[in-house]
Amino acid sequence: MKLLFAAAEIFPFAKSGGLADMSHALPKALSQSVETVSVMPLYRFIDKERYAIEPTGQGFSLDLDGTTHTIEYFKTEHEGVSHLFVYNETLCEVDHLYGPPGGCYNNNDIRFAIFCHAVADLAKRLDTDIVHLNDWHTALAAPLVKDMGLPAHTVYTIHNLAYQGVFPSSSIPKTGLASHHFTMEDMEFYGSVNWMKGGIRHSDAVTTVSPSYALEIQRSEYGCGLDGFLRKHRGKLHGILNGIDDELYDPENDAAIPCRFSRERPANKSRCKRAYLKEIDIDKYELPLFVFIGRFVEQKGLDWIVEAVDEIGRMPMVLAILGEGEERYHVLLEEAARRYENIHLRFGYDEALSHRMYAAADFLLMPSRFEPCGLNQMIAMRYGTVPVVHRVGGLRDTVHPWREKALLCGKGSLFERSDADAMMRAIGDALELYEKRRHLNRIRKFDMGCDFSIRKCAERYLELYRSLG
Ligand code: ADP
Repeated sequence: MKLLFAAAEIFPFAKSGGLADMSHALPKALSQSVETVSVMPLYRFIDKERYAIEPTGQGFSLDLDGTTHTIEYFKTEHEGVSHLFVYNETLCEVDHLYGPPGGCYNNNDIRFAIFCHAVADLAKRLDTDIVHLNDWHTALAAPLVKDMGLPAHTVYTIHNLAYQGVFPSSSIPKTGLASHHFTMEDMEFYGSVNWMKGGIRHSDAVTTVSPSYALEIQRSEYGCGLDGFLRKHRGKLHGILNGIDDELYDPENDAAIPCRFSRERPANKSRCKRAYLKEIDIDKYELPLFVFIGRFVEQKGLDWIVEAVDEIGRMPMVLAILGEGEERYHVLLEEAARRYENIHLRFGYDEALSHRMYAAADFLLMPSRFEPCGLNQMIAMRYGTVPVVHRVGGLRDTVHPWREKALLCGKGSLFERSDADAMMRAIGDALELYEKRRHLNRIRKFDMGCDFSIRKCAERYLELYRSLG
């Protein structure tokens, strides 16, 4: 079986969030059993020398609405997986993946249409059996593969339904999509064109990244306008829980952290906490350390954190925040960090720092309004950091109340209602756990023993691919 796995971001070449993590870990795990090729755009900020990325000498010219786009393929081998890269000036000569922080480029339809045409071209060249597409950026490849009459089966994964790739209908000719797709049963969406609808409609199987999210998105509350459409296609919709690369996130062998620890030898975790608190110049080792790592967008519950900062500022805890995104959150959080010495803010994207924070923290705060899967909580548990989360989507599937006896992986503090008060009660619950130090250590150990590795997820995908024939 030959698999072509396409994504707009793959770690370590380019990453803005969980999509890159999964697009790295899943093909790596699958390549043990399937002939796998991963493909992504060759953005100009990717370090070609470092990753030994070389031209293949192959490519093609694509005519879209009177403009000719030149496409060249590059390749490298990384962690045992063959990677192809698509280079085209419009697609790749940018400083950010999708746009500057908090925004998006106004030619993203053309940029990712070029990528999708390249994916379909590669499916043909490589005689691919399964084309696995991810999120809206690659969704257009599903109708393209079908229209080209290729024998490949298509699997489409929704990592986040909130980003659907909706463009004005005038974008259709510019993207090379056949106009017969512009109907309500297909890609038309309130007068615009919706790429995600195309991915759902034209794929043989649709997956999303946790069982709970697969159910939630069929309800109007979480369906982002596509709940009815998803219900119509539910026969081919599967919720497969994501996983993490436990070699990359491994407190015993992580070069990015200043100490090594494991489930069997957890004591060193406290050294990581001391080192990190020193790094951020907060002299409060005895207080519980909460961290928030993520995009500054409404989805991640930033409004509730902002609403509660005065209360948090007065509580016996330290909250360290790492992230970037919408300006309004940046301003409000910066103000809070100035006012309260137990709130620390680091604006930006910093992979190594995030590892130091996972290793140092007692708790991970993840109050997402909705969460397709969420990797942060799985990474946190691997580092013995107890999650404090909103009971939605993948968080519901991976975190269970620490007070409950059932041995379900993993354990943490949860809140059900969607508001800041409920989040604060979950923080209070975590503070109680912190006071019961022996119990906390038991929960830590339990969480570190949970298997959130990508291997289980890869097995499910293999079954799915095989079921498509
Ligand atoms: P998302 O919705 O952003 O994809 P996930 O929980 O699925 O959320 O994945 C987030 C991934 O991105 C995790 O690996 C997390 O550690 C990482 N991450 C998010 N923000 C930052 C940041 N500012 N610096 C470093 N890593 C980050």
